[in-house]
Amino acid sequence: MEGGSPDQGSVGSGTKRSSASSGSRPRNRKEFLYRFVDSGMLTAKLEDWFESISNKSEPKKPAFDVPFELIELQKFDYALEGISFQQVIRMPNAVYASTSDAVEATAYLAIEDFLHAGVKGLWEAFWSQDEPMPFSVACLYDENLKFYQAEKAVADGKLGGLCATGILLTNPRHPHGKWDQILELALLRPDIRNFAMDSDRQLPLSVLGEALFYALRVLLSRSLSRLNYSQSSNSVFILLVDSQYGGVVKVEGDVNKLVFDVNNVYECAAEWIIKHSRIAVSSVDRIWNKLGNANWGDIGALQVLFATFHCIMQFAGFPKHSVEDLAADHGPRLQARRAERQLGDARVNGNGLFRFQQRSVSPEIVEVQDDSVKIETEQLMKLEVGSVLWLEDSNWQKGYQINQVLNNSEHPYYIASPVEDPQKRLFLYVGSHPSQLEPAWEDMNLWYQVQRQTKILTIMKQKGLSSKYLPQLSASGRIIHPGQCQRPSSGGNCDHPWCGTPILVTSPVGETVSQLISEARFGMEEAVRCCHDCLSALSTAASAGIRHGDIRPENVVCVRSAVRQPYFVLIGWGRAILEDRDRPAMNLHFSSTYALQEGKLCSASDAESLVYMLYISCGGVLPDLDSVEGALQWRETSWSRRLIQQKLGDASTVLKAFADYVDSLCGTPYPMDYDIWLRRLRRNINEDDHGKEIDTSG
Ligand SMILES: [Zn+2]
Repeated sequence: MEGGSPDQGSVGSGTKRSSASSGSRPRNRKEFLYRFVDSGMLTAKLEDWFESISNKSEPKKPAFDVPFELIELQKFDYALEGISFQQVIRMPNAVYASTSDAVEATAYLAIEDFLHAGVKGLWEAFWSQDEPMPFSVACLYDENLKFYQAEKAVADGKLGGLCATGILLTNPRHPHGKWDQILELALLRPDIRNFAMDSDRQLPLSVLGEALFYALRVLLSRSLSRLNYSQSSNSVFILLVDSQYGGVVKVEGDVNKLVFDVNNVYECAAEWIIKHSRIAVSSVDRIWNKLGNANWGDIGALQVLFATFHCIMQFAGFPKHSVEDLAADHGPRLQARRAERQLGDARVNGNGLFRFQQRSVSPEIVEVQDDSVKIETEQLMKLEVGSVLWLEDSNWQKGYQINQVLNNSEHPYYIASPVEDPQKRLFLYVGSHPSQLEPAWEDMNLWYQVQRQTKILTIMKQKGLSSKYLPQLSASGRIIHPGQCQRPSSGGNCDHPWCGTPILVTSPVGETVSQLISEARFGMEEAVRCCHDCLSALSTAASAGIRHGDIRPENVVCVRSAVRQPYFVLIGWGRAILEDRDRPAMNLHFSSTYALQEGKLCSASDAESLVYMLYISCGGVLPDLDSVEGALQWRETSWSRRLIQQKLGDASTVLKAFADYVDSLCGTPYPMDYDIWLRRLRRNINEDDHGKEIDTSG
């Protein structure tokens, strides 16, 4: 738009660009917001852009990202398990009712009630049981853009002018709401359900344009506000619902980049949306059943609740109880259920090679067949020392004998030897069964450990990454189960509960740092070497754009042999970050500050986690942490008082200097300088006559 012809409406106003670019002054912004009132005019300015992105995106592939990954929603679903939501006012079913005012009025009451039940349930479960909820719900009246309780608006004859329902910060001084205090808006529009039928059908511009209009209006109001938002306030969620279905639109961006030309409001707004915003659109899914009750556990309602959860965080800060905390209660609950139903016996299968056990966790719905409780799926193999396991790839079969069962992670894994080479020792991981399309939250860890890690190690191999500090993919494939395999020739699995279970085999083998620390076998010398070796692994991976995302004592092993100095290998690459959408593991003790705050890694994040690991290995004490808020608080206090540097300084000055360097880099966009630190660390490693063992390539 720079140098383009001005909007027709502004011709003759004499406004120059200079006045527009100085528009970040509040008065201009206020005027801009005051004039930005017509969603139709914004939508018209977006037509060309919308057409171009709709054409550009491949057929089957939607033009926008989704706001939430399925795995996040699954975790959230587990966290909500113990929470009860109740919508009292039923949503009228427009399919069977004629479109009348009475139906529309009830729909507005029902959507208010739905949002209220959602925000209240979330507030009490995650933030505070005792403090009253500081939010309220009301409807937006389009003539003055003020908020009214639906009941009151209907009584006052405003029904025809209601255009949205919002969750707002309660403010007795402004009973009709203020735009900077809007957490979230829901637009009730007919026929949203049409876009649920097939997922590649995109929302039309008429619907999306309106959502973008309201989102930008909220962002502008926030930029003028004196409120202190707890979290980044530059994203907004807009809900699109009809009387049965709904979806979520997320708009994110920095409104300071908007050109506040008050004579050109809609063009400037459209330009900002096109150039400076990120838009994400969820699938449209069912929210209310035919009786008008919300299906709280279903994905449609879950998406709405998760959006609301993020909105509350913007105003109230991190919750007292994290999603992880509440999701973790799922396991014990399930065990209680199993005990109650006496589903816990171990059984031995036909040929006695393997013993398998009911896994302690499994999807919550266990099918009950008439008179007997039948357990068909969900059997986790429990391999014993001495048992032999066969796996196959497309063109080979290999046997592995189990030497040792290890239990220091969430799931058992093994040290095994190839049948044809009993001297060799390898790590062997057993994955979750492929038939679990929507595995339990706990099983996701297993999926990361096996399936995802196989993918990452394969990519490393393909990209030619080689370092002795990185694990090597030795084999991967599917298990060959006992008995006849009757899988169809077209592929897939037979009925055997293990059929198709993926296996990953890696080298080298070593003891984990957590084990060394617990047995007080991790001293100062090990700390410096461990820091060097892990940093070297990170540097090699970073050269291919891969970051680890889950550094902790269980994921670093010390490799010893008769002829070499011991060295450390960074394992557990299942949570690695390959692209922007990947999320790192969340660990209250070892995650970086940025990961806890943003769910992403900055360039120093892995190094920060490494520093926490070294801190405890040098005798530093991690406090009991039970919330993200507490974890962030601990980090802030420890860094600002230089407690971490002091502790590491007791062990080695180079580690202290490294911690200072990491502290200075955290949260900034500057890249890590690996080479300089690898050199410094190397100088501090006792090389003796084993000097050649230290990899000087970095
Ligand atoms: Zn089979």
